[in-house]
Amino acid sequence: MPVIDLHCDTADRLFNEKSNLLMNDYHIDLNKLKKGNYLAQWFALFIDTESVKRPLMASVRAMYDYLMAQISLHSEDIVFTASYDAYMKAKSMGKIAAFLSIEEGQVIEGQLDNIQKLSDLGIRMMTLTWNYDNDLGASHSSTKGLTRFGKEAAAYLNNTPILADISHLSEAAVKELAGIYKKPIIASHCNARGIYSHTRNLSDDTIHTVADSGGIIGINFYGLFLDGSEKSSLKALTEHIHHIYKIGGEDVIALGTDFDGMNCELEVCNAGEMGKLIDVLVQLYPQSFIDKLTYKNAERIIRENL
Ligand SMILES: [Zn+2]
Repeated sequence: MPVIDLHCDTADRLFNEKSNLLMNDYHIDLNKLKKGNYLAQWFALFIDTESVKRPLMASVRAMYDYLMAQISLHSEDIVFTASYDAYMKAKSMGKIAAFLSIEEGQVIEGQLDNIQKLSDLGIRMMTLTWNYDNDLGASHSSTKGLTRFGKEAAAYLNNTPILADISHLSEAAVKELAGIYKKPIIASHCNARGIYSHTRNLSDDTIHTVADSGGIIGINFYGLFLDGSEKSSLKALTEHIHHIYKIGGEDVIALGTDFDGMNCELEVCNAGEMGKLIDVLVQLYPQSFIDKLTYKNAERIIRENL
């Protein structure tokens, strides 16, 4: 069954360890993506502002260059994509599409024209925050919302092909964003507070907000967000899937594994094992629902926005 994953931290690991996209011991490499029947993988360029050197845009560029070079080395199997047309071309050739996103909006360092620069590089999604409050707004554990600059950035995103990703953002900031940002809201790697109360998970209210915008929520495989445990189980994954489906409907559900961004034990232990999740889902849902979850909802967002 085809797969589109909205979020992984593989680019950060590849760059920091100067390792290889073709084959490694991570959750994601090219061999595993092929085995897992992936149509597309979104690679996040993650910048930890407490450890990365300034200027942050230069750090983004360095990670971007490394990932692009790795993708180019294996162009027979994977291609960089930033549009629906490029995605469809890759799909028709049996190649995996690599989309790029930013995790940590602070990288624009207070300048809206840096959003345009990211767009010019082919970045197509961006979280406003990571785990810190920043120039744009408040992180998930805060009760504060967007800053004045964050509101300007949200409006600016309306006129670029970059989608707003509310993963790691506070509930109050999501509410404010929804009033300003007119495109589908993406929660690339988030689960449901209705199943497990963690600030990184989405309240039913936020699930409704995403659904009302026509957006999607990528189920996160991290045990810490599934049930607070050291193990990511299929049972917990399906509980979150079911809750988000129940609250947001079948057009909101997608995958956002967070692979290579976690260190827990995983029942779906890497991208090549995605079939294990699908084997469980076919016992529970009709094929049409599983297709939407594994790739069709994500494909719809690409088609209608990129
Ligand atoms: Zn994250």
